[in-house]
Amino acid sequence: MLEKNHKVWLNGTLVPFSETNLSPLTHTLHYGSGVFEGIRAYETTDNKTHIFRLEEHVDRLFYSAEKIFLEIPYSKSELMEACHQAVTENNLSEAYIRPIVYFDDSSMGINPTKNSTHVFIAAWAWGQYLADSVSVEVSDYRRISEKSTICDAKISGHYVNSILATVQAKRNGYLEALLLDHNDNIAEGPGENIFFIKGKELHTPKLGKILAGITRDSVITFTSNMGYTTVERDITLDEVADFDSAFFTGTAAEISPIDKIDQKGKTLAEYDLTAANEIKQTFFNIVCGQEEDYKDWLSFPS
Ligand code: PMP
Repeated sequence: MLEKNHKVWLNGTLVPFSETNLSPLTHTLHYGSGVFEGIRAYETTDNKTHIFRLEEHVDRLFYSAEKIFLEIPYSKSELMEACHQAVTENNLSEAYIRPIVYFDDSSMGINPTKNSTHVFIAAWAWGQYLADSVSVEVSDYRRISEKSTICDAKISGHYVNSILATVQAKRNGYLEALLLDHNDNIAEGPGENIFFIKGKELHTPKLGKILAGITRDSVITFTSNMGYTTVERDITLDEVADFDSAFFTGTAAEISPIDKIDQKGKTLAEYDLTAANEIKQTFFNIVCGQEEDYKDWLSFPS
């Protein structure tokens, strides 16, 4: 995926990608015992590259790590600097940045608390993740339960649940899946949070059983300046036909308007894209540095 001479950050140093190697006995490879982030760098209209909400992503990385007993041997500011280096040292004007924290291969078995922690960060150009409008299938798989794991930590092993839902939806001809929680409420996409629009109200699943998306938080904040109020609550499939518009949010997916939601071949809702597209446009104005109120969200290299 990356060229051999592409620079990546591994345990404190920038090295060519060809110099990284991973032991097949790495604990995280066997058990999913790692944590990661997905972060984007954008170019502003005056051609400067920033990382969007870097501090919040690094905070979440530390939160996730703590939840599965990974002790990150770097400070938050060192990792923020490392993310910038992974972008600038590869001369990327826009990028997707992937930090991962993982247990090494020093011992096998379920208890990793004696393994050492490694940190790797790569950045590469990655364009649009979904499409201009997204067809969605309600998955047969349920979102992992808060009674079984720590739902709001971004833990590698959680993503088997997302992979199952994604592949099932794609095989059935849809662009993305939508997972319910164990109480039949709408949870989220495999890698996105979801919003519904009704007039000037946004409705989105409340926190607790989902990943606390940083894009979700951004949307709740900046749409209040567009005249919207957001209601965070339980939402069921019976309600989806009542909304005017819907969209996914995520660092990879950015703002992705949804055109329909199907379940088992039956269409539950079809949406107009207009309101979702307006919110998407405001998001892109923000990441392009055109919205004075949200300049604090843009982190430039020092
Ligand atoms: N839910 C899940 C399961 C995700 O993987 C992601 C992507 N990180 C999101 C929601 C959206 O989170 P964010 O906006 O912070 O990228």
